[in-house]
Amino acid sequence: MSTRLNGIGMTSQRTRLRMIERLREQGIKDESVLAAMFEVPRHLFVDEALASRAYDDVSLPINFNQTISQPYIVARMIEVLRASAADHPIKRVLEIGTGCGYQAAVLAQVFPEVYTMERIQPLYERARKQLRDLKLRNVNVRYADGSAGLPEAAPFDGIIMAAAAPTLSAALREQLAVGGRMVLPVGAQEQWLYLVERDAQGFRETKLEPVKFVPLLMGKT
Ligand code: SAH
Repeated sequence: MSTRLNGIGMTSQRTRLRMIERLREQGIKDESVLAAMFEVPRHLFVDEALASRAYDDVSLPINFNQTISQPYIVARMIEVLRASAADHPIKRVLEIGTGCGYQAAVLAQVFPEVYTMERIQPLYERARKQLRDLKLRNVNVRYADGSAGLPEAAPFDGIIMAAAAPTLSAALREQLAVGGRMVLPVGAQEQWLYLVERDAQGFRETKLEPVKFVPLLMGKT
């Protein structure tokens, strides 16, 4: 899992270290998330013209009206996923909304098995190639509408959504294992990050913080 990706690309260690320091200041504490964010060369996931801004704490355009999420939100969502009960480590994770593949690459550093789904074909193809070039073999990239999850690979210990649905989907949470966790943005104009936990009794929802994601859309294109 701890694939060394650091040698790839020319953007300096210093720029990445600055990003990690900023994430700490923003409250990210999980050392394995911070280490994974240091390892993954974020600049390779954006257009060359934007590479110099890749480590700033902003979301950036990746074509087709989509964005790469800001580093803070990527770190925060993965940190929330990882905070599972000690007797239920997160092994298999589903991400809905691959985009450029950056968050999937970070997930693949932290968890043994990652599935990610994208509905826009050119984004899917680029992400798949990028993840393959980085030799991240524990990521399975699917070209599909992910709004109903990936039942054939369920149950998942973790589910992460990178696009906002207007309401919390009941179908999706059924794909969580007992002891599993789902982190997702919910809402239209006003969006909040939610944590959904499943235990033997049922589901528990916690509203975490305000966020701004692109909308979850239906169908493939
Ligand atoms: N995970 C990305 C963020 C991508 S933005 C990162 O690392 O920065 C969100 C992505 O979700 C977009 O690429 C969008 O096309 C995709 N998306 C939206 N609705 C979807 C759906 N129903 N199924 C799969 N992907 C979807």
